[in-house]
Amino acid sequence: MKKIAVFTLPALIFLFLGIFSGFSRTEGKQPTQDVTSTKPSEQKVLYAELTPQEFRERIAAAPIAYLPLGTLEWHGEHLPLGSDGLQSYGFFIRLAREAGGIVLPMLFLGPDRRVEVDGRELYGMDTLGENRPEGKRYKNQQLAGSAYWVPEETFMTIIEATLKQLKRAGFKIVVAHGHGPSTGFFNKNKDRWKEKFGLETFSCWGGPQGMGIQVDHAAMNETSLVMALRPELVRMDRLPEDPNSWPVGISGKDPRTLASAGLGEEILKLQTERMAKILSQELAKIDK
Ligand SMILES: [Zn+2]
Repeated sequence: MKKIAVFTLPALIFLFLGIFSGFSRTEGKQPTQDVTSTKPSEQKVLYAELTPQEFRERIAAAPIAYLPLGTLEWHGEHLPLGSDGLQSYGFFIRLAREAGGIVLPMLFLGPDRRVEVDGRELYGMDTLGENRPEGKRYKNQQLAGSAYWVPEETFMTIIEATLKQLKRAGFKIVVAHGHGPSTGFFNKNKDRWKEKFGLETFSCWGGPQGMGIQVDHAAMNETSLVMALRPELVRMDRLPEDPNSWPVGISGKDPRTLASAGLGEEILKLQTERMAKILSQELAKIDK
């Protein structure tokens, strides 16, 4: 049977006003969004979306750039290939609204372990399966969708070019986080960046055990974070139902029984507060 939509007059007026206000917002007819608004959810924080005036205001209030270190990398059958960038990007949007600063577009190239097997290059999780405990073992294989690997020298060139541009644009602090090996690389060169560019740099590692940002691979932690930030992209039904069958290319606690959007939210809240405190202390030093 066909369903016929019945609208009352007030409902129609409401619908029309809703559409109309939506249009005017996209056309920019609404009063300019206050980029220094105290209401965190109203702030525009994405670099790519700021006008020069909005950029000037935000960088004057807090000269912090956030660089999401993404990959296009297998994150289990249940998570999107861009999980690393999606998590750090989503977290940085929340952090920038709390601590100030501007969020850069995500990178998708990064370093990782690389081995050659029978003339074939394998990266990161491709080769993690063979030395795992019984029950979590899987054969070396090229996992579907991974396209991110660059040698550390290339990554150094990419990061240093980025930092040089950020310094020139007026930033004083750069926070980079995401894919483990990229984050490790960024952290390791903190003193080098300070000397070469005069920039204070941070990753987001730290906080209580298991409650960090991206501290496993597609397991309880990362799955919970994607569930909280982009629930529509998570497909738990793609993982094996049998608890004795360990999902390929996942490292950490079992996401099937332990991951939840609630845990993801808890981690995001805790880490937003922790990082906002670190950054406000750093800003106070800069102001002196
Ligand atoms: Zn990851």
